[in-house]
Amino acid sequence: MGMIFPFSAIVGQDEMKLALVLAAIDQTVGGVLVFGDRGTGKSTAIRALAALLPKMQVIAECRYGCDPAVPATHCEECRSRPNSAPVKTKLMPVPVVDLPLGVTEDRVVGALDLERALSSGVKAFEPGLLARANRGFLYIDEVNLLEDHIVDLLLDVAASGENLVEREGLSLRHPARFVLVGTGNPEEGELRPQLLDRFGFSVEVKTPADLQTRVEVVRRRDSFEQNPEDFIAKWEKDDDKLRQRITSARSRLATVEIGDPIREQAAQLCMNLGTDGLRGELTLIRAARALASFEDCAVVTDAHLRQVAPSALRHRLRRNPLDDSGSSVRVERAISELFDA
Ligand SMILES: [Zn+2]
Repeated sequence: MGMIFPFSAIVGQDEMKLALVLAAIDQTVGGVLVFGDRGTGKSTAIRALAALLPKMQVIAECRYGCDPAVPATHCEECRSRPNSAPVKTKLMPVPVVDLPLGVTEDRVVGALDLERALSSGVKAFEPGLLARANRGFLYIDEVNLLEDHIVDLLLDVAASGENLVEREGLSLRHPARFVLVGTGNPEEGELRPQLLDRFGFSVEVKTPADLQTRVEVVRRRDSFEQNPEDFIAKWEKDDDKLRQRITSARSRLATVEIGDPIREQAAQLCMNLGTDGLRGELTLIRAARALASFEDCAVVTDAHLRQVAPSALRHRLRRNPLDDSGSSVRVERAISELFDA
């Protein structure tokens, strides 16, 4: 494995970094869609975050990386192993699996070997990218260029947390829970609303416009490439601190309280913006709770809601023919109307 740029050393891009961290704290928030210019370090950021996260405990024999601590999520193979034998476990880095454009369906879902199944009677299955992404991140560069049938398939799996492979009367299922991270260029093809809705967050990254920031980005990149070991060592303390914060945030997440007034404000905000369905509200609440937990707060406040609202909602707005301001502007305006009135 090559050297990975430390997450803490990424300059700026705060909205993207926070969205990735919150998705890592609570996977149920949903994936992250990153819009922006090429060369703004989108792929670096996701790899850096995965490398920073605590390693996962997995069942050593399992091809899907089942979590020994959560039997309810186990695959068929892990369930069918006799209970008497002690389970061997090992630690694995959190996977980041690339889903290349033009990928075949077999490579994504895995391949059932029909001939072997017929001749030997066992289900021969070659796991695909979804199996490798279980409990980690599935990264799609330029998700807007992905073929529709692959998109539909991903949406089904992301919703159910399970990959079901069926071929000529044979079927096999295995857990596939992952955080979808997609990048898109708003100028290259529209994203379907069903796909947009599936992402918890959408964030925009831009090439930094001020001199100081640009100089710092290039300085750090150069210094990393000159001597990656030294650079990583220099940032290790900050990465450790962040890892600690994420770990604590995960463990206290379930105890963070959300009062009814916050739920009402979330609902009101979504109503005022006219977002379709209830997924926006659900995401908003979960994201605000993950943020409260990350900030070591016992209770979700207005401030948490306000901070996550733009990235949780901006991709869920219907186009308004009477209002051509950008979606970020519309969300900001609705927030200010609701909270500052
Ligand atoms: Zn398993």
